[in-house]
Amino acid sequence: MTTEPQTSSTPFDCTCCGECCQGYGGTVISNADIKKIIHYLDIEQEQFLHQFCVKSPNGWMIAQRDDGFCHFVKDKRCGIHPVKPRICRAWPYLESVLADLSNWEAMASVCPGINKQADPQKIIAAVKAQIAADKKI
Ligand code: SF4
Ligand code: SF4
Repeated sequence: MTTEPQTSSTPFDCTCCGECCQGYGGTVISNADIKKIIHYLDIEQEQFLHQFCVKSPNGWMIAQRDDGFCHFVKDKRCGIHPVKPRICRAWPYLESVLADLSNWEAMASVCPGINKQADPQKIIAAVKAQIAADKKI
C-alpha cells in the first residue's frame, strides 16, 4: 500500500479503517499464499486449513470470525502482514480494474482510501506496476 500523501490525483491512500478485512465471505488464498502463511505461523498446512480456512468453489479462503472479520485481523491491523495473501497485498490494484475501470468506482464504495476522481491513466499504471511487482515475488 502506498505511503504517497493523499492528493486529488493520488489513486489510493489507505486510511487503515480495517473495512476491507471483513465480509465478502472470506479472503481468497492461493497455494503460494498458504505456503508462506503456514511457514510464518509455524503450523502444519492441515491445521491451518482446518482452523482458519473454508473451501469455496474456487479454492481455499481464509474464513471470517463470528464478528465478520478475517481470522487474522486484530485492532484493525493484519496479524499476518508480512505474508498476507496476494489479494490483500495488491488491493485495490487488481486485474479486474484493467478489465473494466468501473470496478475501481465499485471498490471505492467499500474502501475510503480509493480516490474515485483519480486519473484513469494513473490507476491503470498503478495496477500494471502492482502486477509486475507480484511477478517478482
Ligand atoms: S478499506 Fe481501504 S482504506 Fe480501509 S483499510 Fe482497507 S484498503 Fe485501507
Ligand atoms: S489476511 Fe490480513 S489483510 Fe487480508 S483480510 Fe485478513 S487481516 Fe485483512
